[in-house]
Amino acid sequence: MSMERVFLAEFSHETNTFAATPTERDDFRNRGEFSGREVLSEFEETNSTIGGACEVAEAEGVDLLPSVSAEATPGGVVSKEAYEFYTDRILEDLRSASDADGVLLSLHGAMVQEGGVDGEGPLVSAVREVVGGSVPVVVTLDLHGNLTDELVESADALVAYETYPHTDMGETGRRAMELLVAAMRGEIDPVTRIERPPLLPFVPKENTREGPMAELMAEARRLEANEGVLETNVLPGFHQADVPWIGFSTPVVTDGDPALARETARSLAETAWSMRESFVGEYPTPEEAVREARRLQRDGVSESGPVVLADVGDNPGAGGAADGTVLLRELLEQGVENAGLALVTDPGAVERAIEAGVGSRPSGTLGGKTDDRHGDPIEIEGYVAAITDGEFRNTGPMATGVRTNLGRTVRLRIRDGREGTVEVIVTENRVQPYDAEIWRHVGVQPERLDVLVVKSTNHYRASYEPLASEVITVNSPGLGAMDARLFEYESLDRELYPIDDIPVEVYPDWER
Ligand SMILES: [Zn+2]
Repeated sequence: MSMERVFLAEFSHETNTFAATPTERDDFRNRGEFSGREVLSEFEETNSTIGGACEVAEAEGVDLLPSVSAEATPGGVVSKEAYEFYTDRILEDLRSASDADGVLLSLHGAMVQEGGVDGEGPLVSAVREVVGGSVPVVVTLDLHGNLTDELVESADALVAYETYPHTDMGETGRRAMELLVAAMRGEIDPVTRIERPPLLPFVPKENTREGPMAELMAEARRLEANEGVLETNVLPGFHQADVPWIGFSTPVVTDGDPALARETARSLAETAWSMRESFVGEYPTPEEAVREARRLQRDGVSESGPVVLADVGDNPGAGGAADGTVLLRELLEQGVENAGLALVTDPGAVERAIEAGVGSRPSGTLGGKTDDRHGDPIEIEGYVAAITDGEFRNTGPMATGVRTNLGRTVRLRIRDGREGTVEVIVTENRVQPYDAEIWRHVGVQPERLDVLVVKSTNHYRASYEPLASEVITVNSPGLGAMDARLFEYESLDRELYPIDDIPVEVYPDWER
């Protein structure tokens, strides 16, 4: 038997359609764009979808035909130019790989392209058109995908992350590749059905380590053990997109049994719906959260590790500007000592600091320049404590070993004239600082700070919880805001809880 061949491509973006700035090809390049064999060498032996796929390919004696890997930090709609560049490239490479026995696509599920409404569905349809009906196509997804019927119908199987923080990227790649190989060998005949309960969770409630999502994931694993069920997915979706199909979905893959897939998806969707009230919560404002952090500091709690505040609204990992100043202003105004903040993206401030040099105190404005959702610019005089190239590899449990590129980066020490001191990491690139290695790369042991603000909703937990004395989720403003009711939608074609107060009995009778 000649070696089986699997075509492999990655094109991933979580699109926040409320962000004014489109996502360009340079944004993908900044995060990491790789082609051909480079795709494999970059991700082999990392905790990533491609890393996991490589492992199974090697074990199964399958040859990988890598096309391209491109991912950008969540943000505005993907420009027409960038979208066409990557999709054309994938389809061209696929046409040249005419003897591929299977296709593995690593996508996000919440991409929106300029002039379109669904980045993934049309791409997978086009892939299907090239390879025909007999070559299996398996798609991996982030659990924050908003999934369309076109995507579900074009792929043979969908395999989504099962954790948030996403610590199972490698595992997702392994499961997808195993499923694909079994389908290529005719051992299984995957079929997928989806249900969409009308639910938009508060984002911090999507944490799979506790609460309703932990319960739902456990239920999904129980259903997965049933005869004929290959894969049960639970996706809370991504509410920062004004497209009709945002929100929860439960796509299920079975072995040639559409009725079982539908019934299982339905069962999971009904369980999610029955828990809908536990997906809504109350969280402190920035002012309250910093006050609480100071209290914990005064009480000596932070002696065993920093009190970590999650700046949810300005999380660049959900499309936040990353130049928000609301939490920084609170730290300075409340005079918090020995605090740190990761990060503020402000290329102008970086330039100014690098020109002035280490040990100098340039003054000027910091942050607040992108839009009016993330606070005003702050006038500062910051001591330049360190300058770096902004590159490091993650050491925490999420995307372990994967390269982070902040662009040129400086650490500024800001005092407000009173007792407070805040170490602020200022970067050229917009990146979610979910891995605590970011502190070590600028010369700070994060364990030694008392109060640490991280622009992240939930991912930071994987790396920061082990060193934190307490974590506080902050209901801060911005494009990453946790509550869908803070956004104005024009494209929704159905009622969604909690935007709409839907009576409990509605969902079981509801059909899309
Ligand atoms: Zn995600």
